[in-house]
Amino acid sequence: MQVSVKAGRMVMGRLKKGDDLLGALQQICSQQDIKLAEIRGLGAVKHARIGYYDQDGREYTFVDLAQHMELLALIGNVSIKDGKPFVHAHVTFANSQGESFGGHLAEGTEVFACEFIITEYLSNTALERAPDDETGLFLWK
Ligand code: ZN
Repeated sequence: MQVSVKAGRMVMGRLKKGDDLLGALQQICSQQDIKLAEIRGLGAVKHARIGYYDQDGREYTFVDLAQHMELLALIGNVSIKDGKPFVHAHVTFANSQGESFGGHLAEGTEVFACEFIITEYLSNTALERAPDDETGLFLWK
């Protein structure tokens, strides 16, 4: 499935120390009424919680990384789920040894510092998530 889009607003900023990374991005999109967008970010976190989708078990398992890390890259998108803007993001972190970890960004990741950019897109057709029987995920319908 695909939709045609046009460029919308660009919102750049930084999150506050102590913010929940996913929750804060979600809140910005809701407040700014951003329904379709691409999100990028970088910074550092005090603690991370990431998910991995078990394709056979059809459920997410989550892991807590209880250490200070660089947020090397956050890449994500915004679309509509249950009638509201929904942020889906993946993240890569590095610890003090330069070892990397990554996964599906979950609530419970605490920001130390984060600079983000949200690139909004406008479309006549809403990009909405719905349950997908083949994968068990909420995918664009
Ligand atoms: Zn994901």
